[in-house]
Order: sequence, then C-alpha cells, then structure tokens
Amino acid sequence: MLTPGATIGILGGGQLAQMLALAAATLGLRCHIFAPPGDHPAFAVAAARTEAAYDDAQALAAFAASVDVVTYEFENVPAGTAAILVDRVPVRPRPEALAITQDRWLEKSFIRDLGLPTPAFLPIDGFDMLEEGVATLGRPSVLKTRRMGYDGKGQVLIGPETDLRTAFAAIAAQPAILEAFVPFSREVSVVAARAADGSIAAFDLCENAHKHHILALTRVPAAVAGATAALASAMAGQIAARLDYVGVLAVELFVLETAAGETLLINEIAPRVHNSGHWTIEGADTSQFEQHMRAIAGWPLGSTARRGRIEMENLIGEDVARFARILGEPGAHLHLYGKGEARPGRKMGHVTRIFDD
Ligand code: AMP
Repeated sequence: MLTPGATIGILGGGQLAQMLALAAATLGLRCHIFAPPGDHPAFAVAAARTEAAYDDAQALAAFAASVDVVTYEFENVPAGTAAILVDRVPVRPRPEALAITQDRWLEKSFIRDLGLPTPAFLPIDGFDMLEEGVATLGRPSVLKTRRMGYDGKGQVLIGPETDLRTAFAAIAAQPAILEAFVPFSREVSVVAARAADGSIAAFDLCENAHKHHILALTRVPAAVAGATAALASAMAGQIAARLDYVGVLAVELFVLETAAGETLLINEIAPRVHNSGHWTIEGADTSQFEQHMRAIAGWPLGSTARRGRIEMENLIGEDVARFARILGEPGAHLHLYGKGEARPGRKMGHVTRIFDD
C-alpha cells in the first residue's frame, strides 16, 4: 500500500494522463509523466516529467527509479518498454493486460476462451485467408488490423460491393482479423475498477454515440433493461478477475435486439481509464481517475454511486470554439485539455451535464 506523498509514474501525456494527475494530486500523490518529446496536456499538471522515446532504456530505468508504481494511459505501450519497467518497479495494471488488448486476435480469443460473447471472428494473415473468411462470415463484415487500431483506424467495412483487393490494401496487408458485422441497436461500455485485494466496483452502464468513429456523446444510464446492464457489469468483472487486473478498465459492448430480447456482444477491452467514463468526475461519488489511483496505490475503492442522469459531450476539433457559450450554461461542467490546434477529429475537451434522474 502506498502512502500519501508517493509518486505515480504515468506512461503517456494526453488528456487521460492529465485527468489522472489531477485526481492523484487531490489524494496527496505526485505524478511523473513519461512521454516522447512534445507538448503534452499532462505536463501542465504533473510534478515531474521525462521527455524521451518509449524505447529509451536509460530514460526508462531512471524513470522507474524515481517512482513507486507505474501505470499508463494508453494500451499500445511497447512490450519492450513494459519489460524494462516490470523488472524495476510495480506496473499496474499488469503488462499482460497490454499484450492481450493491443492485439485484436489475442483480445477476441481471450474473450471467447472466457466463455463470453463476442462477434464471430477469424484471423487474416494473407489475401487468400481474406477471400475464405468473407466466404465464411459473409457480407457485410469488418476487416480490422490486429494491432494499433483505435477510433476506427485500421478498419474497413466489407460491404456487398467492396473489392477485397482494395480492402486488403487499405489495411496495408497487415495481419488482421475479420469480424461478422453486428447490426447493433446501441453501443455501451462498462467502466470498472479492480482493487489489489480483488474487490471490484463498476460504474453504471454508459451508452455511447460515435461520429466518424470517434466518441461524441455518452449518456448514463444506458437505455437497456436492468438485467442487461447487470450482465455487462458482471462480464467486466469476469475479465478483470481473469487478468488479475489492478486499476480501471473499460469494456465496450454492442447491444443487439433479438426475438429473445437484448443480447450483448463484447467489442473490445481498454486496459485504462476511458473516454466514456469522463462523466464520473462530476457525476459519480468517485471519479474513474481517483478510482484508478486508489486501485494502483493499493487503497480501497470508492463509491461508484451516480448523481443524476448524465450526458457527457466530447468537444472534437472546432467544437471547442463553443467554449464561451458552455461557460455561460448553468450546471455545465467544462473541461478543456489545453491542446493547441483544433484539428479535425482531435479531442479538445468535454462537457458534462447532470440532470435530475
Ligand atoms: P473498434 O475500433 O473495434 O472499437 O470499432 C470502432 C467502431 O466501429 C465501433 O464503435 C462500431 O461502431 C464499429 N464496429 C466495430 N466492429 C463492428 C462490427 N463487428 N459490427 C458493426 N460495427 C462495428
């Protein structure tokens, strides 16, 4: 168990690291951010920083020596980086969670092997396998690179007319998986934490709307049956337990309406705090960022009770120009990440609105 005054090392310097560092500070914990040279939002609020490449072994060793525990804000931490750190300092969540979630084939196989539902999927290691895979799963189906996919990147929808050669070229002929297309009615996510003692606490189920594959709006609670929400939460708990996970994780799921009612299919696991959990800063007794700090510090988890009906809107690109109007809106909680240029698709901030339940 860490004591107040301890130093948390965070790999990555984006808005998730920024919000983690802010939560840490309110608990008397210091943060040391490790990120490649650049202008990172988290630098503005952290006690210390290292600007170095993720494969800089010397910088990683010095970083490890200066912190009490290491965590991360993104899942694509290189395996070599994690290996250098785990020899020197506790890394939470365990790097095994990274290895599984940064490869869609390993991730989907892990979910299936746990006996949990996920869309049908096949490995694609060459063009011949893509032709066979589409013959098996049919059209539409979704081709996704195994690695480095996020916000819809590295992903191609194979529709009735899609030329398979073009689709394969669009993912640069990389190792991939082919997934059955899911005609979902809703996309939802569970943000949950597992403490070092194995206890688990989940926030209420979030319902997520995307624009151009980027999260635009989260509503809580999700408009699903209570049993569906409870099942999603139980699935996240099962995943966290199997990974011997410590910290916050998010599980993204599709809700499918069938004759038998609502069915859930797991899309992916994020081994970190998640954009769909930003509402917890004002909308829950404990924020996901504080919860993550509590977990990795070996402290008890906090209450996840929700404080109303919630809407969290992402401010993407030019949306941020509305900030002055939002400032004038009673009860709107505005967060700006301090990023420079409002490029299209860039997450510049978010706003949380809380209504009577
Ligand atoms: P992902 O990168 O896997 O999170 O996918 C990004 C988005 O693409 C998801 O949020 C869905 O809206 C959509 N998507 C991904 N996989 C499927 C699928 N198998 N069927 C239908 N839509 C999908």
